[in-house]
Amino acid sequence: MSDIDAQLQQYLGRPCGPYNSWDEVNQAMIRHWCEAMGDTNPVYTDPALAEKSVHGGIVAPPTMMQAWTMRGATSQWATGSDTREPFEVFEFLESHGYPAVVAVNCEQTYYRYLRPGDRIHHTSRIEAVSPQKTTALGVGYFVTELEEYWDQSGEKIGDMRFRLFKYRAHERAGEPAVAAPAKPPKISRFRPAESYDTKFFWDGVRAGKLLVQRCKACGVLRHPPGPMCPSCQSLEWDTLESSGRGIVYSFVVMHHPPIPPFDYPNTVLLVELEEGTRLVTQLVDAKPGDVEIGTPVEVVFREVEEGYTLPLFRIRKES
Ligand code: ZN
Repeated sequence: MSDIDAQLQQYLGRPCGPYNSWDEVNQAMIRHWCEAMGDTNPVYTDPALAEKSVHGGIVAPPTMMQAWTMRGATSQWATGSDTREPFEVFEFLESHGYPAVVAVNCEQTYYRYLRPGDRIHHTSRIEAVSPQKTTALGVGYFVTELEEYWDQSGEKIGDMRFRLFKYRAHERAGEPAVAAPAKPPKISRFRPAESYDTKFFWDGVRAGKLLVQRCKACGVLRHPPGPMCPSCQSLEWDTLESSGRGIVYSFVVMHHPPIPPFDYPNTVLLVELEEGTRLVTQLVDAKPGDVEIGTPVEVVFREVEEGYTLPLFRIRKES
C-alpha cells in the first residue's frame, strides 16, 4: 500500500453532521418537485385522493429525500448544521495531484414515506476509498460517501450512497494541457414572428422598402408596428415609405459574451429616421469607433442568411 493509500484510510468512517433541513416536509416543495419532475401521482398533491389511498394522506415522493437537507443556491447549510465539510478527503486528494472529479453513481434506500410536518436531517461519512485505479479518464480514487437520513424522532428514513471518481486526467501526446474552448456552433439568427400587424414591414423589407406605420386618423407615425394608434387610439392605418436616411440616436457596442451568430464587436444602433420614428438595427461596413451619436446613416437591405433580408445601416456620406 502506497503512502497516499494509507493516509486516505484516516478519512474513512468519520461522522459529520447533522445537516439540517431549512423547512419541514411541506406541500409547496412537494408540488414544485412533482411539477419539475413531471410526476403526476395525485398521492403527492391531491389531499382528497391521498386520503383515500393506502397512505391515508399526502406523502412526499421518496426520491425527494435529498432535497430536504440540500444546501441553498448560495451553498449555505440550514441553521444548526455542522459547519465542517463532509468532503475533506477531496481537499487531500486535490493537494496530492488529483484535481478532477466525476460523479459515478448514486444509490438510495427508503425506509418509510415522509409526510408534511416531518423534520429531516442527514449525517455523512466517507464509507469507502478504493485503491488507486486507472480508468479511461485518468488515474485516481473512487470515493463513496454514505448519507443517512433521519426524522425528528431519530428514526432512520433512508440512506444514500454517492460515489465519485477523483482523478488526474491522462496526458495525451500533442494535446495542450487545457483544451482550447470550442468555437460556438453555427447558429442561425432568430427570425421575426410575422403577424397581421407586422407583415407589411417585412413585405416592405423583402421589396427593398423601409415602411413606417401611419395613423389614418391623426397622421402620427409609429414603430415598431402595433394595432392601435397610441396618440388617438384609432385602429385605422396605412404606411409611409421612409427615405431610409437618419442619424445615430444612440448605440451600444457588444464585446462580451459573444453570442452567435453575430460578429464581434457588434455595434447595435438606435437610428432616428428623417421621418421621426426610431428603429433598432445593426451597423454594417464600418468599425465600432466610426460612429458617434448624430452620425448620418442610411439603410441597406442585406440578405444575412439565405432568404432572410434585414434593414441594416451604414454610415452615410453627407451630400
Ligand atoms: Zn392617431
